[in-house]
Amino acid sequence: EDNSQISGGGSLENWPLLEPAFPRSEKLEARISEIMSRMSLEEKVGQIIQAEIRHVTPEDVKKYHLGSVLNGGGAFPNNDKFATPKDWLALSDAFFKASMDTSDGGVAIPLIWGSDAVHGHNNVIGATLFPHNIGLGAAKDAELIERIGRATAREVAVTGIDWTFAPTVAVVRDDRWGRTYESYSEDPAVVADYAEAMVKGLQGGKNEADFLRGENLVATAKHFVGDGGTTRGIDRGDNAVPEKELAEVHAAGYLTALPAGVQTVMASFNSWNGEKLHGHQYLLTDVLKERLGFDGFVVGDWNGHSFVPGCTLESCAAAINAGLDMFMVPADWKALYNNTLAQAKSGEIPTERLNDAVRRILRVKLRAGLFERSMPLAGKAGILGNAEHRAIAREAVRKSLVLMKNNDQLLPLAAKQNVLVVGDGADNLSKQSGGWTISWQGTGNTREDFPGATSIFEGIAAAVKSAGGEAILSEDGSFTDASFANGKAPQVAIAIYGEEPYAEWHGDSTNLEYQRGNKEDLALLKKLREQEIPVVSVFLSGRPLWVNSELNTSDAFVAAWLPGSEGAGVADVLFRGAKGEIRYDFTGKLPFSWPMYTNQTVLNPYHEHYDPLFALGYGLSVNEESLVSNDLPETSENMAAGGLEDAWLLVSRPRAPWVLNIAEDGAKAVPVNGNRAASGEDNNIVVTSIDMSSQEDARLIEWKGLRPGAVQLSAEYMQNLDIYLEEGSALSLNIRVDQKLREPLQAAVTCGEGC
Ligand code: BGC
Repeated sequence: EDNSQISGGGSLENWPLLEPAFPRSEKLEARISEIMSRMSLEEKVGQIIQAEIRHVTPEDVKKYHLGSVLNGGGAFPNNDKFATPKDWLALSDAFFKASMDTSDGGVAIPLIWGSDAVHGHNNVIGATLFPHNIGLGAAKDAELIERIGRATAREVAVTGIDWTFAPTVAVVRDDRWGRTYESYSEDPAVVADYAEAMVKGLQGGKNEADFLRGENLVATAKHFVGDGGTTRGIDRGDNAVPEKELAEVHAAGYLTALPAGVQTVMASFNSWNGEKLHGHQYLLTDVLKERLGFDGFVVGDWNGHSFVPGCTLESCAAAINAGLDMFMVPADWKALYNNTLAQAKSGEIPTERLNDAVRRILRVKLRAGLFERSMPLAGKAGILGNAEHRAIAREAVRKSLVLMKNNDQLLPLAAKQNVLVVGDGADNLSKQSGGWTISWQGTGNTREDFPGATSIFEGIAAAVKSAGGEAILSEDGSFTDASFANGKAPQVAIAIYGEEPYAEWHGDSTNLEYQRGNKEDLALLKKLREQEIPVVSVFLSGRPLWVNSELNTSDAFVAAWLPGSEGAGVADVLFRGAKGEIRYDFTGKLPFSWPMYTNQTVLNPYHEHYDPLFALGYGLSVNEESLVSNDLPETSENMAAGGLEDAWLLVSRPRAPWVLNIAEDGAKAVPVNGNRAASGEDNNIVVTSIDMSSQEDARLIEWKGLRPGAVQLSAEYMQNLDIYLEEGSALSLNIRVDQKLREPLQAAVTCGEGC
């Protein structure tokens, strides 16, 4: 493919012509002009910069007139995850005051604080945690999504934060992507419906008096555009679909979120046909702002500008010139500020472009009433995790469950019986909640991170007890005559297991095999089966996975996704009421096609070879007969011959700083400009994921240019990768490698002292 042909432009006819969500208001524009007429160039440059709260102080905000701050991946300053709503509010007050402080001269412009409230206000201890988007996709209930948006906005407003980086409107087309669970569905129609509903819930209706005010927030449609369609599902990779498909499939959520009045759009890390979105003038400006009528502002993703060719972390006029309006530059904001100022002075960033970016940011701030900072809910800690919001989350859990197998109509279960609950997901709020919970990649299984939450086991125990039955938890599935109060054996077992939490990039995988912990889970299921106890599997996962063995070894199987803090919603549907009545039927339908084989990674009805185990939209109700075979193939014989293999290179806890060097003797390093190596796809080694022992280290490595999808090595041209590790940190590099390259690669890896 010759990417230069497409690079920089396409054909606007592929995109609908949308009316702007709001007619132009002369009054608003005049007010913006008046404010801007008093702003210095320094203030304008400060306005387009967003720094992270661990790397910036209120004094910095005042001095540099910064326009925005964010808290990325949960963390509060000093990484204090136990910061209370009061602490969050005090910090947001301090930032706001600093931005309005004109004692050194300058114009008072309120800063806007953005946070990833992506399944509830998930960075704050005690908040209601709603099911992740994939589970909501199964619920097929846009009205519910709107209520979730409203509840989330209310909880965020308690902490004085103005803006959430949600909803994610990715339409995922390769489930190996580690962010699949942040997507509502592979079906663009569901994403379009939900994008509109979520924007309405978060921001309020665009024609209502309280739009963006009071209990509402500023929302973000992200990540523009094509994040869910990268080749091989590689995070931050390249999307190579034709423009028509980009518009009709991947942009479906924007086509409804924009008319609903979404005020910000986040540029995506991915590229389209080789060109990074952060520097994509055609898509950011010609398409988004002109063709689709967007008059809010485009925020960058975390250091996303640094991947634009010719840019660094500290300098990127190209992104602003392409149409980015605000840099998300968590740590290195000062250097970027200085360079951007110089570029604005020299004319490298044209005055009109800078003015347009500032105008857009002010437009959103004025619309959202930030100058008045009217925050009726600020400090009302009782709203966080209140009963009303938890009830909505519990309803969402009930509606998200997809019944995939139900032999002899085992479900729903009688509540008055002996129930044995097994599996490491049973009493595990962290597994229930997934990534983007308290911290970026999710949290360990500590109860103190989840005050007020209910685990799935706790929900089951309460439901069974209230009907006169008994549920006990047994990690390893064993029990004795004395285990249950009535001295009898369990009549049914519920096994709850699934994936460990992960977030972007750590979650990328090479195929769809359920591998995390799966051998133990399967042994447990077999043990129960041998004792002739009927087994119900409740599977926790961020995407469809190959679970044929688990399905064969279960009498009933429920996909529960990542349900969040209200585990009782699972018991609501699994069990009948005390009188044997059915309380809630299963209504969830698969938002993603479920694979029959591990290599069915691109699997959707729009694709040529559609041969799933369960099709998109599948989901039994309790009265339907379960037709799934007990004899699904347990080896994935469908694996394409000569396919890509996984290789692991794991180096942990080096005793001294060391260097890992991947190179072939005498090979010359070639510039790999973020995409394909010169020889094409065939001979490639692709870095698919990198795990560092800490988030900071991981982002550091990323800055050094080593990132999934970006570094590709070919047999002919090997690129040198030097990775420096601090003493005591750990690195695992997950790479995908062509079989014929395994030996040369092994020979080429050298490891320094202490490695
Ligand atoms: C993610 C975004 C997120 C941002 C801020 C990025 O790494 O891609 O989805 O909003 O971080 O935390």
